[in-house]
Amino acid sequence: MLVGLLAPLVVYALVLALHVVLPARVVDGYVRGPEGRPLRYRLNGLAVYAAVLGLYATACRLGVVPWDFFWQHRVASALGAVGLRLVFTLVIVLPAPSTGRGLLAELYLGRLENPQWRGGVVDAKMALYLVGAVQLALNVVSFAAHQWVAHPDARSPGAVLHAALFVFFTSEYLVFEEVHLYTYDFFAERVGFKLGWGCLAFYPYFYAVGLWSAAAEPAPRSSPAWLVGCGGLFAAGWILSRGANLQKFWFKTEPKRKAFGVFAPEVVTDGERSLLVSGFWGLSRHVNYLGEVVMATGLALSLGRPSDPWPWLYPLYYVALLVPRERDDERRCASKYGELWGRYTARVPYRIVPFLY
Ligand code: NDP
Repeated sequence: MLVGLLAPLVVYALVLALHVVLPARVVDGYVRGPEGRPLRYRLNGLAVYAAVLGLYATACRLGVVPWDFFWQHRVASALGAVGLRLVFTLVIVLPAPSTGRGLLAELYLGRLENPQWRGGVVDAKMALYLVGAVQLALNVVSFAAHQWVAHPDARSPGAVLHAALFVFFTSEYLVFEEVHLYTYDFFAERVGFKLGWGCLAFYPYFYAVGLWSAAAEPAPRSSPAWLVGCGGLFAAGWILSRGANLQKFWFKTEPKRKAFGVFAPEVVTDGERSLLVSGFWGLSRHVNYLGEVVMATGLALSLGRPSDPWPWLYPLYYVALLVPRERDDERRCASKYGELWGRYTARVPYRIVPFLY
C-alpha cells in the first residue's frame, strides 16, 4: 500500500527535477505579466517525458519493477495522487493574496493566475500539465502490459492500440507545448484545487478509465478492420483539434501566415481586432472541441468493448467538460469583442458541431 501511495510522489518529483535540470527552449507566452510584458516559459516537456518513460522501461527490463507496476498499485497510487493534490491546493492557495472571493471559492478556483518560481524556471501550469501527461502515459502502458501479462492466451491488440494512442496523445501535446500557452487554461484559469485536481489526479487516473476495466479481462473479439477504423476515428478527431489549435496559434503569432500553406487567414475585423473565419475556424466556433470528443470516441471503441459502459465515461466526460466551457468562452469573447463577436457568430453560426450545434 505504502509503495503505491508514494509512487506518484516519486514520479512527480522526478518530473519536476528533470524539468529543472534538462535544457529547455525559452519562449514568450500569450499571457502578460503585471508589467505588461509576455510571461516567459521554459519548454522541455518532451525531453522530460521521454526520459521518464525511458527510465521506467529500463527499470522494467532490468526486473527492478514489473511492467504492470502502476496497474498493481493503481488504487493506492490514485489515492496518493489525490492526497498530493490536496496538499498542493493548500500550499498554492493559502499563502497568496486573496482575490476577494470566499475562501472555499478561492481554494477551488485558486488565487494566483500564473505562478512561476525561481525566476520563471518553473511555471505552475506547465509543470502540472507535464506531470499529468507523464503519469497518464505510465498508467496506460502499465495497464495494457497487465492485460498481456495476465492473459497470455487472450492478449488484446485493442489494449495495445489504446495505450499507443494515449502515448501519442500525451507526447504530441508536448510536441506542441508552445501552442498550449495560447489556450483558455492560461488566460482564464487560476491555480487552485480545480487545476491541481485536474492535472495531478483526474487527468492521469480518470483518462485511463477504459483500461481500468478492460485490462483485467481477456481480449474481446476485434477484427483488424475494427482497430483500423478506431485508429482512423482518432486520427480524424486529432486533425480537427490539432489543426484548429495550430491555425489559431499561427494567426496570433504570424497573422498573415497561410495555415498549412492552404488556408489564407480570412477574418472579420473592427479595424483593431480580428477573428478568423477560414479553415477550421469557419466550420464552427469550437471545432477543436468536437475533435477532442471524436478522438475520445476512437479511444473508447479501440478496446473492442462497445457494450462496456466504463470506456464510454471518457468521451462523456469531454462532452460534460467542453459544452459548458464553450458557453463560458462565448460569454468571455462576447464581452471582450462586443459588436465584432456578433458579426463573427453570424458568419460562423455553429458552436461546436458543424450544421448541428
Ligand atoms: P480555444 O483554443 O478554442 O480558445 C478559445 C479562445 O480563442 C477564445 O477565448 C479567443 O481568445 C480565441 N478565439 C476564439 N475564436 C477565435 C477566432 N475565430 N479567431 C481567433 N481567435 C479566436 O479553446 P480552449 O483554450 O478551451 O482549448 C484549447 C484546446 O485544448 C482545444 O483543442 C481543447 O479541445 C483542448 N482541451 C483539451 C483538454 C484535454 O483534457 N485533453 C481539456 C480542455 C481543452 P482571444 O481572447 O485570445 O481571442
